[in-house]
Amino acid sequence: MTERSSLRTRAVAGEPVDPTYRAIGTPVVQATSFVVEPGEVGFSAADMQEEQPYFYGRWGSPTVRVLEQRLADLDDGEDAVCFASGMAAVSGLLLHLLRAGDHAIVSDVCYAGVAELCAGALRRLGVEITFADLSDLDEVRGALRPGTRLVYAETPVNPTLRLADVEALADLAHRAGAALAVDSTIATPFGLRPLALGADYVLHSLTKYACGHGDALGGVVVGRRAAMAALRQDALVHLGAAMSPSSASLILRGLVTLPLRMRAHEEGARAVAEFLERHPRVRRVLYPGLASHPQAELARRQLENASGLLAFVADGGDALARRLAERLRLVLYAVSLGKHRSLVYFLPTEDLLRTSFPLQGEKAARFRALAGEGLFRLSVGLEAPEEIVADLEQALR
Ligand SMILES: *Cc1c(COP(=O)(O)O)cnc(C)c1O
Repeated sequence: MTERSSLRTRAVAGEPVDPTYRAIGTPVVQATSFVVEPGEVGFSAADMQEEQPYFYGRWGSPTVRVLEQRLADLDDGEDAVCFASGMAAVSGLLLHLLRAGDHAIVSDVCYAGVAELCAGALRRLGVEITFADLSDLDEVRGALRPGTRLVYAETPVNPTLRLADVEALADLAHRAGAALAVDSTIATPFGLRPLALGADYVLHSLTKYACGHGDALGGVVVGRRAAMAALRQDALVHLGAAMSPSSASLILRGLVTLPLRMRAHEEGARAVAEFLERHPRVRRVLYPGLASHPQAELARRQLENASGLLAFVADGGDALARRLAERLRLVLYAVSLGKHRSLVYFLPTEDLLRTSFPLQGEKAARFRALAGEGLFRLSVGLEAPEEIVADLEQALR
């Protein structure tokens, strides 16, 4: 596609016509071995060439490769590496970039799996981690040190929808000689442009909005060509979490409608957030598309789409969670986000603080003040907004 094509057109027409059959969609090539000339491809990952023929499925395969090129294009990156899940992409990148003695700064509130990976396996391997509030640039400045190799941000963060200023973080990280990685799962390429704002790596859990139909797991890292080649050798070939071609095919199908779905998710989330904000039982609504979001100015500046994920705090906590699960007809009580169906899930504050978020003292107190007994995380789906609102209204009564 030309440089000037809109993202919406690129999402539809960026998928190449299949060169073998002239099919208008990408065939699913399930084979895990490919015929090569003797000596054509080295047996070790260390001998991997950039544009080498397909060799073994874990190294790369045609359907997954088309998806990688599509995702690199949508984020305006040079190349991309797909993984079996979002967590495989995160762990692959972190294990590739960091070694014992290195220091990394990671958002103190983020996807629970990432927080637990950093506090667990990465620290056991000797990587030094500082958990910081990345929306507070002074805190980031104070956390940077000579050995800092990476700043790892998520924006908006799951589950509090706090934002990080990607441009300012890139500037701070680069001045200190560190790289910036941004998990942009919730924003998608249609909401946030991390690479254009200066990030070195952008990650997505493709399981969420990119796939969009709740039927495939996947993850991706997008970045510079040489960096992606090194990541593929080190993290994909050796750690082994390769994406399956059938998942790649489902995610390719999802990408076509991603810009249209993001508009609908945003429209629905805005309607639901405004309804919840007026509801007497609801104490607080966290959604970057609301004027009441504490970083509304940053949201206007960096988010082109506020996405479909919101969180709210309501009187009743656990008991209310049980009531919602029982009474909701349209909205399903289930984890995850970015799917066609609206999903709600209760995240009890004390559980999050015990198992996932490394918050102590003043920071834990601030989180308790924000989240109360717990956060109801609501991923607003593609149903008619007024019917989602009506369902919540009858269940909250
Ligand atoms: C879901 C999620 C992940 C992990 O992705 P999986 O595909 O579930 O492994 C990482 N980051 C964010 C922000 C997520 O929402």
